[in-house]
Amino acid sequence: MHELKAKVASVIDAHAQALTHFGNDVFAHPEIGFREERTATRIAESLRRLDLEVEEGLAITGVRARLRGAKPGPVICVIGELDGLPVPGHPNADPATGVAHACGHNAQLTHLLGVATALIESDAAAHLAGEIVFLAVPAEEYVDLEWRTDLARRGKVEFLGGKPELLKNGVFDDVDLAMMVHASGTPNGNRLSMTWNYNGFVAKQARFIGRAAHAGNAPYRGINALNAATLAIQAMHMQRETFRDEDHIRVHPIITRGGDAINVVPADVRLETFVRGASLEAIDEAAAKVDRSLHAGALALGASVEIRTLSGYLPLAVNRDLGNVFRENAVELVGAACYGESPSNSASTDAGDLSHVMPMLHPNHGGCEGANHTVDFRITDPIDAYVTPAKAMAPSGTAEALRQVTPSPAASARCNPPTPDAECAIV
Ligand SMILES: [Zn+2]
Ligand SMILES: [Zn+2]
Repeated sequence: MHELKAKVASVIDAHAQALTHFGNDVFAHPEIGFREERTATRIAESLRRLDLEVEEGLAITGVRARLRGAKPGPVICVIGELDGLPVPGHPNADPATGVAHACGHNAQLTHLLGVATALIESDAAAHLAGEIVFLAVPAEEYVDLEWRTDLARRGKVEFLGGKPELLKNGVFDDVDLAMMVHASGTPNGNRLSMTWNYNGFVAKQARFIGRAAHAGNAPYRGINALNAATLAIQAMHMQRETFRDEDHIRVHPIITRGGDAINVVPADVRLETFVRGASLEAIDEAAAKVDRSLHAGALALGASVEIRTLSGYLPLAVNRDLGNVFRENAVELVGAACYGESPSNSASTDAGDLSHVMPMLHPNHGGCEGANHTVDFRITDPIDAYVTPAKAMAPSGTAEALRQVTPSPAASARCNPPTPDAECAIV
């Protein structure tokens, strides 16, 4: 076992330069969720060069390849996310779209490729029972809601996130456990780390409808939808003292349409927010307060409001057995002083949905700086961003995981997250 691990690690090291080139190339060509065509083609080509059979077009842009072991056994899925997110002004943003890899998903695809390369070149498959599935998944960032809801309306997807959509399509039906390593941009001194729990959320889209009027000569004839939305946001802020610390509630509205012309009283104003929390009950309770606030803003101004609730992602709980295996490998690689753990993070991921269906591993890597989702995020140490996580994950995902983890029954359940207060996936 020790020999095999060393061989796998040395193959990854030997490919460090090529992996860095791949990771940087993806970083330089960011694409938004469900439209990651170039990125999907790049990862598909790279997997084909390893002589793997590759399927494309899963949930529009997803890519899958399989590596079969010597005998039947559990199916382990190594995940890399394909998408960037809108961060206009990021130095590496696509000038046409404003989309940037400000969450480090380019590194995940590099890990996926590193693990695949290592398991194939080291001939580890000959020692494995079961299969490794390499899965590049679309659309983890829950953004671009108008475009995605339209996509759903046209029947192209049902869910607005890649993993729930792949779950619904049955792509995880034969998978027993899943793993990925996510970038941790905010420096915490750790080269590898683990956060055991993440928030879930629902998304709200609100449309305030007022009455247009000339803003100079007759504003009294109008109903100002922007004022209604502003008041609703204030009402949401007033709720904050009722949020319990342990529920990790996050409500962070933005106005996506604030008015059409400066000299017209705004009559159509749109607002979006997430309502995040550590449990479904907490999300449900906070979402009801947000709804009340939205209605209150409209009521005060004599406007009306249409509220749409979209199922977001479920809270993530990292599987303890898998996490313990990863910790062992991580400490062996980077030393105890450079490995850290924290109980929870208030961000969210659709890996949460997977964690309700199968054991899920979702640790973090360093090698990057700047807060995730901001113009400051960048890769500063390609070895720690691209190479070290692959070396930590490859053995976690192979023999030791097979020995130590009791996999769930194959994930035959269709994903239908019991997200509170949601009309349905999308209406
Ligand atoms: Zn992100
Ligand atoms: Zn991310």
